[in-house]
Amino acid sequence: MPIPTEPVGSLPRPTALQQAFAAYDAGKIERVEFEQAQDDACADSIRRMEATGAPIVSDGEQRASSFATYPLTDTLAGTGLAPNLAADGQYFAIFTDGHHRQLPRLTGGPFRYQTFAADYLKKSIRYATKPMKQAVIAPSMLALLYPLDGEVPGYSREQFLADLCDECEKDIRQAFAAGAKRVSIDFTEGRLACRNDPNNAWTGRGMLGHFIQLNNRVLDRFSAAERRNIGIHTCPGGDCDATHSADVDYAELLPSMFKMNAGYFLIQLASEPDKERVYAMIGRYLRKDANGVPQVAFIGVINPQNPRVETPEEVQADLLLAARHIPKEQLGSTDDCGFSPFSIDVKPKHGSPDLARDIAFEKIAARVQGTERAAAELGL
Ligand SMILES: [Zn+2]
Repeated sequence: MPIPTEPVGSLPRPTALQQAFAAYDAGKIERVEFEQAQDDACADSIRRMEATGAPIVSDGEQRASSFATYPLTDTLAGTGLAPNLAADGQYFAIFTDGHHRQLPRLTGGPFRYQTFAADYLKKSIRYATKPMKQAVIAPSMLALLYPLDGEVPGYSREQFLADLCDECEKDIRQAFAAGAKRVSIDFTEGRLACRNDPNNAWTGRGMLGHFIQLNNRVLDRFSAAERRNIGIHTCPGGDCDATHSADVDYAELLPSMFKMNAGYFLIQLASEPDKERVYAMIGRYLRKDANGVPQVAFIGVINPQNPRVETPEEVQADLLLAARHIPKEQLGSTDDCGFSPFSIDVKPKHGSPDLARDIAFEKIAARVQGTERAAAELGL
């Protein structure tokens, strides 16, 4: 059995698509034209990702406003925002370059998704000749739609969380029903929850335990056989080539994270200053039996925030070092994060989103080749 390798999900939207998003927001193009631009970008993403040799591909999330807001709004500017949401919610994250991303605010119940990830997958999967994965957003992220303090009139926090878990479960089940081979849950808020940023109130509320519990409420609705193919992605954020919580020690997060009953984890690691320390930590906390499923750690071997393309030799070396600490049957490889989790991202260190796309495919090819080399070296 080779070492499994899987992308997180997103790719930079080409300049033409980012322009189409802006034109749609400005009312300059109709929906049909907007969707055609998304469709073209998805077809191109799948074709080029398949050409890297990757065994499992995504559509690059080209239709999504962002990895977190796709169920809520068609664009980041708020076109198509769900009726019981207002634009002025709390900051989800403040990034190292000073920019921030904001969530909407829930103004009433009941909470329902407007769009499920499967709605996008159904349109994209016809372009694929290889298995596809689908990323979905974690309930723990969308829990931040509810105001931190106080109650939404007529809609208790408990009722909201119950509705939220139902919607997240549907999101995952529908993705599998639409043909996804794997579904990973984006959990970037996990590491950020340990940050205690005085400028971002929710990060100082010690919410990690609550997040883990909430995500398990959804995961525990799936059988062990289903959870083998349900993953969790952790990272310190990746937007405009900047991060939001890379300074948080993994020791704060990992012991709790592996308590989630997911079958696999996509873990940022290529950009960590001391990788071996983290490999050892993973080896210590990764569970052989998470309620019936052995957990697999996909270690990040590619840094999507840095335009330098990793070599297959570097990828191989990372995996061989990791295999000293993580059982090889529980080891996989991935990218540190999606290549552009938000639809509007000019990829400043890369020069342009179009260049960043070219670089992303080179990086994915290096991940695939390096992983194959490591597997051969380990006798897998
Ligand atoms: Zn990420």
